[in-house]
Amino acid sequence: MKPLFQKIIKEIEKKASFVGRRLTFMELCGTHSQTIAEYNIKKILPSNLSLIAGPGCPVCVTSQEDVESIAGLAMAGIPIATYGDTLKIFDTSALLKKNGKHKIDIYVVYDVEEALKLKNQKPDLVFWGLGFETTAPMTAWAVKRGLIVYSTHKKFFPAMEALLENKELKIDGFINPGHVSAITGTKIYESLKTPQVVAGFEAKDVLQAISWLLDQIISGKFEVQNEYKRVVKKEGNKRAQKIIQEVFEVKDALWRGLGKIKKSGLVLRKKYQKQDAEYVYSKLLKKIRKNITFSSNVCQCGKILQGMRRPQECPLFAKICRPENPQGPCMVSVEGTCYIEYKYGK
Ligand code: SF4
Repeated sequence: MKPLFQKIIKEIEKKASFVGRRLTFMELCGTHSQTIAEYNIKKILPSNLSLIAGPGCPVCVTSQEDVESIAGLAMAGIPIATYGDTLKIFDTSALLKKNGKHKIDIYVVYDVEEALKLKNQKPDLVFWGLGFETTAPMTAWAVKRGLIVYSTHKKFFPAMEALLENKELKIDGFINPGHVSAITGTKIYESLKTPQVVAGFEAKDVLQAISWLLDQIISGKFEVQNEYKRVVKKEGNKRAQKIIQEVFEVKDALWRGLGKIKKSGLVLRKKYQKQDAEYVYSKLLKKIRKNITFSSNVCQCGKILQGMRRPQECPLFAKICRPENPQGPCMVSVEGTCYIEYKYGK
């Protein structure tokens, strides 16, 4: 450990011992979870202080209904473009088997520009718009240029409210997401009466955030502190906010594990309905959704996303469920808690 780390760790130990009781902080970004795992931060924390991962992985929180709807579109012969992270969520071999001889066109794109280029060859291409406020502006930009989108974009703040309302959870403080906050700003969090620190992604940032959360608990003065000032501003990115608002409207959305969260979904405005897969393929989607059967497998991802289970508590973890053979969304994405635990846990 570097001397700077040693200093912060000593401060954390001192403050946690002063508080005395058990404390649980939740990190809300998959990239924070990666840093925590990579630097083994959980192991060096005092015994009365726990870190749990929250719903910061967009692939993991996508509802099964949305996954099945997109798979259904692909099986109906509609070309789909998506980010690489999402590809493993589809059991492509099962899709091919179900679809017999029909070809399935699922393309991995690096960004929306690539999807727009692909649209020149495949005019009916549907782009799966996925992610929080971080990726929604890029999707909005592409919608304005004619891309057809199936939007599972979500607003992050309503999920934080839902987590605090969950009586089974006892969260003493949040490490707020750095990427999302770069767009939304920090002001949005002020209505939550719980300790919060927006943090960057270095180990030092995460340790600093933990130390500041402890300060807030000791002083009893709960606020939103910004440790990531080099990127995150109080008002956020106004241009990005403007294009989100121009293209999307806010609706209730279904989150895996958290259920329906009010005013958390970003759907295309009526003005852009010709780019909205929900409108363009409304009849087909209705048919697909009517036939969805939800299998009750043992995947604990829903609980893991709320910090109520650890990956090791799932009977499939590291046995049947591994990154090359994921059985649930938390193992699919590099930001998924099970993937991170599998990669760094050893
Ligand atoms: S290990 Fe796999 S099956 Fe178990 S909770 Fe994680 S993703 Fe789901």
